[in-house]
Amino acid sequence: MTTVSVDLGGTNVKSALIKDGVIVESFSAPSRSDAGIRETLSAVEHVIMDWKNKSDIDGIGVAFPGIVDPAKKKVVSREGKFEDAWLFDFEGWARERFDLPLILENDALAAAAGEHAFGAAKGCGDFVLLILGTGIGASAFMDGKPVRGKHNQAGITMGHVPRGGDRPCACCGGVGCSESRASTWALGYMIAESPIDSPLKNETTPDFKLLKRYCEEGDALAVSLFEECVSVWVDVILSLVYAYDPELVVLSGGVLKWGNELFDRIKKGVLEKAWTEWGALRFAAASDPDASVVLGLHELAK
Ligand SMILES: [Zn+2]
Repeated sequence: MTTVSVDLGGTNVKSALIKDGVIVESFSAPSRSDAGIRETLSAVEHVIMDWKNKSDIDGIGVAFPGIVDPAKKKVVSREGKFEDAWLFDFEGWARERFDLPLILENDALAAAAGEHAFGAAKGCGDFVLLILGTGIGASAFMDGKPVRGKHNQAGITMGHVPRGGDRPCACCGGVGCSESRASTWALGYMIAESPIDSPLKNETTPDFKLLKRYCEEGDALAVSLFEECVSVWVDVILSLVYAYDPELVVLSGGVLKWGNELFDRIKKGVLEKAWTEWGALRFAAASDPDASVVLGLHELAK
């Protein structure tokens, strides 16, 4: 089976030609979420057309960073990235441009499907996945299948469980969401609103790579933000664990590039707090965070 996957990220739109679970070719372009979904998709159309001209492609899978209805092939969420996406006819786009059928999935759910089929959750039917990046992505598998729920938002919205405070969420329109307390997009607000003085306040585009550098230099603000983020992420995982009763927690996303210290701190925090009389949860890092979404789409397209 040969498919094309398109991962609509906030920073990049990634596409891949995949044959029987192996990425044959891939292409990435900057996202234009401000310019809209049509503009962003047009950045990969010529590549998909090239692939179609030389391969026998069975279909296209698109992963979207928000709530989708896979049956209707429509984006449901109207907040967050690509605000016009809920109006876009993805199925019509795939048919008119390439004469191919299409599946549309949430990006974290696709990542979980990729880890389940090819990666860290291979052979494990009950697991949860947490993606720490621009925001907090999440997904859960039970009995070997992705949990979807009545309105296709089970698990994937766990980063929006309120955690207190009054910071507006950049993604869901809510207030005090977990990801508004611990994510890359929230970091600038967290730094600006902290009473602790630090040269970190002069940084214009803070991210976790920068936060790590300040932590290593012993900066009090950086250390306190790191501690706060770990505590939020631990609680989001506990919410997933209590909702879906997994045996394995898979951690993914760009923030994990922090290294083993972060992975170990999250794991320790969860294991210390988790009420799991049956034993200890297993933890694993995503085996290939950059590829799991596109591979998951390929798997779901079956
Ligand atoms: Zn939110």
